[in-house]
Parts: sequence; structure tokens; C-alpha cells
Amino acid sequence: MANTTSPRIGILGGGQLGKMLCQAGADWHLPIHVLDQNHSFPAANYATVFHRGDFRNNKDVLEFGRKMDVVTIEIEHIDTAALHQLVAEGIKVYPQPDKIDLIKDKGLQKQFYADHNIATSTWALYAGAAEVRQAVANGQLRFPFVQKARTGGYDGQGVAVIRKEADLETKLLEAPSVVEALVDIDKELAVIVTRTPSGELRVFPTVEMEFHPTANLVEFLICPAAIDSDTDARAAALARTVAERMDIVGLLAVELFLTKTGEILVNEVAPRPHNSGHHTIEACMTSQYEQHLRAILDLPLGPTDLLRPGAMINLLGAEGHSGPAVYDGWAKLLAIPEVYPHLYGKAETRPFRKMGHVTALGDTVAMARDRAKQAKAAVHVISK
Ligand code: ADP
Repeated sequence: MANTTSPRIGILGGGQLGKMLCQAGADWHLPIHVLDQNHSFPAANYATVFHRGDFRNNKDVLEFGRKMDVVTIEIEHIDTAALHQLVAEGIKVYPQPDKIDLIKDKGLQKQFYADHNIATSTWALYAGAAEVRQAVANGQLRFPFVQKARTGGYDGQGVAVIRKEADLETKLLEAPSVVEALVDIDKELAVIVTRTPSGELRVFPTVEMEFHPTANLVEFLICPAAIDSDTDARAAALARTVAERMDIVGLLAVELFLTKTGEILVNEVAPRPHNSGHHTIEACMTSQYEQHLRAILDLPLGPTDLLRPGAMINLLGAEGHSGPAVYDGWAKLLAIPEVYPHLYGKAETRPFRKMGHVTALGDTVAMARDRAKQAKAAVHVISK
């Protein structure tokens, strides 16, 4: 595909998701350009051309985007004003800037679900902590509830679960926020949908986040999810509806809650490759990264069928270690069959920083999970 007429693809963000997009693009020898601040970031050495600049800076994004045919993102926290300007100048930007504006703000997301009759937890908007306290005091708001900063949150940062009076003093976020009902969650699921500008749409198999039985942390992402076929069909249909109503182009990762009463609610969406789709590289017929490139280039989408049951773990920086990363136990990890590690090449490790991931496959989910568990026990990201 790569020749002098190959479209130049520009990615805003040089993290691990950007790196894996570059890796998928390399198979077709696509010219992939990445904009981010530092040559030490994961995607820098894997981009055809790495451009140093700030994706939050209007001028940097404009300058970068004007050299591209198609611009995409691996993070939502970017300057969208520049992206709107690029569209006005005739450059393709996928996901579309207005969708990024919508998704960046959890308040606008909730309004979108309400406007389109998409099931989500009940919610209301508040200007800040004082307004939330006042709503509790005058009986409008009852415990327990969840307060989320409208913008800027990630990986649970910017989410506060408020269960009792004392939490109002210690946990409330001082930010414009969405306050929503605490959902009685049976399982957390994710479905990745891809849509092209022509409207072709494909859905990846449903993933389940398995939590550690005692620590409140996602331990494995497993696929297929342990849900009955009716629930699976409803999850896929709901995710598809969100992507269709949004008219999104590219990947849309839809995070869902399956409630104890069997309802499926949309939690939130992300318009880019997602942590819950890493396993697609080895476990599915087409990876989420290749699928995103197909979508933004308006090429036919690939089949998304699951080839083998899979379990994915994130490799997090070990507690008590900060500094240059060392991967202890690498040989032990590679001795486990059907285990596919991906290191992101971040120079420095910190406790709980996402340093890589491992996908394990097996004949069954149980076998894949067991292999992922062995992998987790084998390798530790430390600092000497
Ligand atoms: P982030 O954007 O930081 O990932 P999320 O909105 O996904 O934030 O919330 C992080 C986690 O908090 C969810 O995965 C879920 O475990 C929990 N959570 C979020 N909203 C609710 C809710 N309404 N009820 C119960 N738990 C929730």
C-alpha cells in the first residue's frame, strides 16, 4: 500500500496506544507521523516520523496537522479547536472533533445518552463540591453516589465514591462534575465498535473485566466474557447503537455495567484504541489497531471473530520502585506457552504505572487466565 500516494497519517499522542497503531501501520508500510513532547515516549521510535510538540497547544497541532492527509488521536485530552480548524481546511480528522468535544466532557456524554435514549445511570450536573454538599443537605441527593470530574479524569482519577457524611469532607472533588447513582454492578464489560466514514460497522467480542476478589483492582480482562448469549447480544447491540447515534468514525470503546438485575448501562466511551482491546492483537482476526487504521482510511473493515480465548493483564510498575525500569523474570515469562508480552518502553517505572501488558491465550478462558496468572507471577517491573 505504501507508495508516493499513501495517505500521511498523523497521530496526536505518542503513548503505548500510539505505538501499537504505528506497529499495525508498519505491516502496510504506511507513513505514520506522531506528535508528542518527548523522544523517549513509547511511539517515538516506531513512528515513520516523530514530531516534537504539544498536542494541547493550538499552534503545534495546526502545524502538524497541515502536513497530514488524515489526523487521529490516541488520547482525548488534546486541543480540539485546532482540529476543527484543520477540518475547515479540508484535512480529514477522525474521530471527528465534535465527537471528541462531546466525549471529553462526562457531562455532555451523559446528556447525549439522555437525548438518544441510551441506558445509563441516573445523573445530574454540579458546579463543584459546595453544590454537592448543599444538595445532600437539602435532601436532593442521597448516599451512596459517585462524583466524577467532568473533564480530565482517567484510570479512575477524578472519580469519588461518596457513601457517607464523612466522605463529604474527605473525598469530594473540587471540580465541575457529574454526580450519578452508585450502580449495583454484577460485571463490568467493554465492547469496541468500529465505524468507517461510509458507515460500515463492526463489533469486537465482549470483554469482561475481572476484579481481584479482595483488592478493588481489575485483575484480568477476559474474552469471551462469562455472560449468557442474550446478555452478550444486548451488550453488543447497545454498543452498536451508541456508535451509530454518535456517527463516530474510527474505534469507539464502550464501557458497560451489567447490573445485578441484569440491566446493561453505558458507563462511558472512548474514541480511540482502548486498554480493553489489547488482546485483539493476538486473539482476534483483526486487531483494534489495524481496524482503526482501516476505518480512518475508509477501507473495508476486517472480521473481528475471536480466534482463541484470551486473558490480558497490565504490567504495572511494582510498589516501592521508581526510576529506570528493569523487567525482572523475562526469561521465566517467555517459558509459558501462548503468552505474548508487550513492553511500552517507558524509560521510568513508578508504582502502578502501566509499563506493558501480557495477553495469554488458551483452549479455554480458564487456561488463558491461568497462563496470564503465571505471567504475572513471573515478571516484575522494578528499578535497580
Ligand atoms: P475513568 O474515566 O477514570 O476510567 P470511570 O467512569 O470509568 O472513570 O470510573 C472508574 C470506575 O469506577 C469504574 O470502572 C467502576 O468500577 C467505578 N464506577 C464508575 N461509575 C460508577 C457508578 N455509577 N456506580 C458504581 N461504580 C462506578
